[in-house]
Order: sequence, then structure tokens, then C-alpha cells
Amino acid sequence: HAKRERDRISTFDRKYDVNSVERLQLLADLRAALEDDQLHVVYQPQVDMRSGRTVAVEALVRWNHVGRGPIGPDHFVPLAENSGLILPLTTYVLDQALAQLAQWHADGYDLRMAVNLSARHLSDLSLPQQVSNALDAHAVPPSRLVLEVTETGILSDAVRADVVIRALRAIGVEVAIDDYGTGNASLSYLRRLEIDELKVDRSFVMNIHDDPHDLIIVNSTIELALALGVRVVAEGIEDERTVKVLAGFDSLIGQGYHFSGPVSAAQISERLISERSA
Ligand code: C2E
Ligand code: CA
Ligand code: CA
Ligand code: CA
Repeated sequence: HAKRERDRISTFDRKYDVNSVERLQLLADLRAALEDDQLHVVYQPQVDMRSGRTVAVEALVRWNHVGRGPIGPDHFVPLAENSGLILPLTTYVLDQALAQLAQWHADGYDLRMAVNLSARHLSDLSLPQQVSNALDAHAVPPSRLVLEVTETGILSDAVRADVVIRALRAIGVEVAIDDYGTGNASLSYLRRLEIDELKVDRSFVMNIHDDPHDLIIVNSTIELALALGVRVVAEGIEDERTVKVLAGFDSLIGQGYHFSGPVSAAQISERLISERSA
């Protein structure tokens, strides 16, 4: 099924690249989708590698297109970014995610929620106030929200990004660097910005059980970040071998298909219940 989905997306992608009419149509469809609730949010667990418990979830947007079926965010998020649609899209995801988080908190699960931001948000000086309003609306403590930003997002307008990130942290929200290692940021840069979390990109993590260079890079990145007091999430943990290789760290969070792919809120709830009774 996954392969079929990939084939469909890539066929569709070729058309979309060469045909701007197609692209405009898709953009119009996305605008409509935002208005009539055709988007939804799924959640991927982030697991404490020592205890095996779910400590956070990442909200990931999904679009079930009426005519084309499911379209992955790698395809429509960039489209939204290049139009005005990324702002309403993020507002939608943030609102859904915080409503769900409030529910889990009410059920007694003290999770963090991670939400992805786009580069554009980091140059939007009104973002911190919007985030603060959303937290108030759902009565969620700011410290339970982690906003994920990419290195390219930060570097595209570094001065403004600095102001926005500091303002977010001033209201108590946490900030994570996503896809760490794929851009040009350095750890000293992270420290200057006072980042809360670093997510080591899955392209480094995936092969650590048989690529000694990747293993050195990942191990030393994790060590350095932890020494700086930055929380670390290793992305793309797909198998038990990778878990074993990373077992030496006292405090490390894992995310990947080995634990769970992105699933519905109901499936996360089931997971939390079974962890509680374990
Ligand atoms: P990301 O933020 O790096 O999210 C992680 C992606 O890796 C997700 O793909 C997830 O399904 C996938 N993944 C998780 N574990 C594994 C694993 O073990 N192996 C492999 N190969 N992949 C894994 P997804 O949901 O298709 O999202 C793709 C990208 O789209 C995200 O990458 C993020 O950049 C963007 N995106 C998704 N949702 C949102 C959103 O609500 N807002 C924004 N701005 N971007 C989003
Ligand atoms: Ca992310
Ligand atoms: Ca990532
Ligand atoms: Ca990514």
C-alpha cells in the first residue's frame, strides 16, 4: 500500500512540476480544503529510549484530496509556503494539536506537543502573540508546546528569526531545530539562540548500525548537545538495531517507525493507556 501511494504521488509530482495550471488548480483545491475541513492531523510518538514511554507527539498534517486521494505534506506544504496559505495551515494544525493536547492533559497524560513551523513564520513578528492566544484558548501550559523550526528557516532571515525565537521562548514555549545536520547551523549557533531541543535528521540516524562515519557524527552530536543542556530527539529510528546502538545515552528521545509511524489521536490514546497499565 505504501508503495502504491508513493507511485501515485510521484506520477502526480511529475505533472505538477511541468504544468503550472495543475499547480494553480491544486492551490485552489488546498484553499478549499482548508475551508471545508479536508485536512486532518496525525500524531507520531516520541519515546524516551530508556523507559520506552511516550513523552511527546509530533503533529503532522494530512490531506485527503477528494479526487486524487492522499497527498503528502512534502508536496503541499511547499505549495502553501509559496502562497499565502501557510499561515492558515499552521493556525489550523496548531489549533487541532492544542485541542487534542488539552484532552490528553485532562486525561492525566503530561505530554509535550511538537508542531512544525515554516520559514515564513520566523519572519512574522506577530507569531508569538498568535501562539500565546492559541495556548490561552486551550488552556495549555506554554512549556508543553515545542515549535520545530529548520536551519534554513532560521538562516533565511537570521535577525528576525532571532527576535521571533526569543519572543517565543519568553512566553515559555520551547523551540526545536528540526532536521539537524542537513543545513548549515552549528552547535555554537544553537547555543547562542538558546534552543531547547535538537532533532538529529533521519538521514544520519538511519544507517548508524552499518555506517561508522554516520555513527561517529550522530554520537558526537548527541553528546555535544546534551552537554550544552539541549534535549535530543533522534529521528528515523526504524529498527531494533538502531535502538541498541543508541542505548548508551542516559537521556535520549527516539522517533521513528520502530516505535510508531504517525497515527490518529485515538491510536495515541490507546498507546498511552497501555503504557500506563504496563
Ligand atoms: P518532518 O518535520 O521531518 O517530519 C517527519 C517526517 O518523517 C514525517 O513525514 C514522518 O512520517 C516521517 N517519518 C517518521 N518516522 C520515520 C522513519 O522512521 N523513517 C522514515 N523514512 N520516515 C519517518 P510526513 O508526515 O510525510 O511529513 C513530511 C514533512 O512535511 C515534515 O518533515 C515537515 O517538514 C512537513 N510537515 C508535515 N506536517 C506539517 C505541518 O503541519 N506544518 C508544516 N509547516 N510542515 C509540515
Ligand atoms: Ca518536524
Ligand atoms: Ca525532521
Ligand atoms: Ca523533513
